[in-house]
Amino acid sequence: MSRFNIENKVAIVTGAGSGIGEGIAKTYSQAGAKVVIADMNQAGADRVVNEIKQAGGEAIAVMMDVTNEDQVNAGVAKTVSTFGGVDILVSNAGIQHIDAVDELDLANWQKMLAIHQTGAFLTTKACLKEMYKNNKGGSIIYMGSVHSKEASKLKAPYVTSKHGLLGLCRVVAKEGAEHNVRANVICPGFVRTPLVDKQIPEQAKTLGISEQEVIKKVMLGETVDGEFTTIQDVADVALFFAGFETKALTGQSLIVSHGWFIE
Ligand code: NAD
Repeated sequence: MSRFNIENKVAIVTGAGSGIGEGIAKTYSQAGAKVVIADMNQAGADRVVNEIKQAGGEAIAVMMDVTNEDQVNAGVAKTVSTFGGVDILVSNAGIQHIDAVDELDLANWQKMLAIHQTGAFLTTKACLKEMYKNNKGGSIIYMGSVHSKEASKLKAPYVTSKHGLLGLCRVVAKEGAEHNVRANVICPGFVRTPLVDKQIPEQAKTLGISEQEVIKKVMLGETVDGEFTTIQDVADVALFFAGFETKALTGQSLIVSHGWFIE
C-alpha cells in the first residue's frame, strides 16, 4: 500500500466543476477515492462526473451554492446517503473581483467574503458533524492563495478572505484534533484557470498595460522560473494533505507558487 493513501475515502470538493477543484477531484479519483463534485454550475459538475466515471472512478454531482446553508447541508446529506460518510472536504469554490478599495461596492465586498469565508465555514460545519461521529475524523483542506500571505493591489476582498482562511484552519485544527480531524490550507500562485483568464484583460485595462505584461510582470514576474503553477502542482499537494496520516501538519499552510512567495 502506498503512503498518502486515500483509497475508498469519500471526498467532497467544492467548485470542482472547473479548474483547480476539477483537477483535485480527478487526482483523488485516480487515487481510489469516491468523489463528490459540489458546484453551483450544473453543466460543469456533470461533465466532471462523466469524465471521472469514464475513467473508471466513482463520482456524484451535488448542486450547491456554498453560501446557502440549506444547499450545503443537503449536499453533505446526499454524500452520506450515497457513500456512507465523508472523510475529506476540499473547500475550494471561489471567484475573483478586481477593484481598488475606494471604488469597491459593498455588495461585491460582501459577495466575496460570503463565498470564500462563509462558504468555507458552512461546508466545514456540515462535514465536521459527520467527521466527529465516533471520532472517525478526516481531513479539511482550504483553498487559500499566495494572497493568504501577501497582498496585491485591486484585490482587497480576495486578500482579506484568503488571509481569513488561515485563521479558520487553525481553529479547526485545534478543535478537531480530539476527533481526529486535521485541517490545512493550500496557497497556490497563479494557475491558468478560467478564474485567472478572466483577470488578464481586466487587470490590463485597470493598470493600463498589455495582457502580455500582466502575465509576465504582474502574475509571473516574481516566480523563479516564469511558470504558472499548474493544476497538478496543487492537486498533488491536496493529495498529500488528505493522505497524511498523523496530526504532525495540522493547522499548517503550504505555498505552491514556483517561488513567487517564499516564507
Ligand atoms: P474556476 O473559476 O476555474 O473554478 C471555480 C469553481 O467554483 C467554478 O466551477 C464555479 O462554478 C465554482 N463556484 C463559484 N462560486 C461558487 C459558489 N458560491 N458555490 C459553489 N461553487 C461555486 O477557478 P479556480 O482558479 O479553479 O479557483 C478555485 C479556487 O482556487 C478558488 O478558491 C480560488 O480563489 C483559488 N485559487 C486560484 C488560483 C488561480 O490562479 N487560479 C490561485 C490561488 C487560489
